[in-house]
Amino acid sequence: MSLLNVNNLTVSIEDDENLKEILHGVNIEINKGETHVLMGPNGAGKSTLGYALMGNPRYITEGGEIIFDGKNIVDESADKRAKAGMFLSFQNPLEVPGLPLSSFIRNAVEAVSGKRVRMMQFKKDLEKNMEVLNMDKDYANRALNVGFSGGEKKKAEILQLLMLSPKLAILDETDSGLDVDAVRTVSAGIKEYQKKKDGALLIITHSTRILESLKVDYTHIMVDGKIIKTGDASLVDDINENGFEKYIQESK
Ligand code: ADP
Ligand code: MG
Ligand code: MG
Repeated sequence: MSLLNVNNLTVSIEDDENLKEILHGVNIEINKGETHVLMGPNGAGKSTLGYALMGNPRYITEGGEIIFDGKNIVDESADKRAKAGMFLSFQNPLEVPGLPLSSFIRNAVEAVSGKRVRMMQFKKDLEKNMEVLNMDKDYANRALNVGFSGGEKKKAEILQLLMLSPKLAILDETDSGLDVDAVRTVSAGIKEYQKKKDGALLIITHSTRILESLKVDYTHIMVDGKIIKTGDASLVDDINENGFEKYIQESK
């Protein structure tokens, strides 16, 4: 049984009180332990797919199914989907003055798991994962994302990913705007997540730098709200060299 099975998904957003269809029948299947990469030109609908999968209420599913872990979750709230094991990283993470990063993550872990977190173990795990991400221990006590650089925000997100350990992680341009060192660190964090047995990834990206040291099973190209091509890891290199145009022409 696949972990995620998206069938003929149609998604609209409200635009000046009119509904505008953005995704026109998307199909994607992700099995446990697989890493999928989603690429495509700006405005293709990649982020829309991420938000729709996660259940953001602004993105209205008008048709199709999202089967996650054996259940059609199309009508479930984002909260329920998170509890079921879905995670989405945000392009612009929230800044919360007064809320320490460690408390935020602990709350999230408790909310998702429905269990009390044992402090000693939590602290140990947090510090271990911060080490993977080259994060100074002090960050645990700093207010969530307040005054964090772009790179630090992304690291904080990957730290959440590692601590939440979801069944499926959707990373939306986690690498955009990062310098070479930060990309390497974020990539090391994703690699750490890949070690988790059965953990699946959908990585939305423009850059191939982040993928260099990662295992990639499938690559999808999205254009105009549709997946027009699926291939293996080599498709990433091909897109990198030749762009999307060839595939857009082929699909016409
Ligand atoms: P991508 O992530 O591939 O660049 P998006 O999913 O962000 O693409 O956008 C797909 C299309 O939907 C674009 O035409 C964009 O302008 C439109 N769109 C996305 N979000 C909104 C929104 N909240 N309101 C209006 N239009 C939107
Ligand atoms: Mg399918
Ligand atoms: Mg996007």
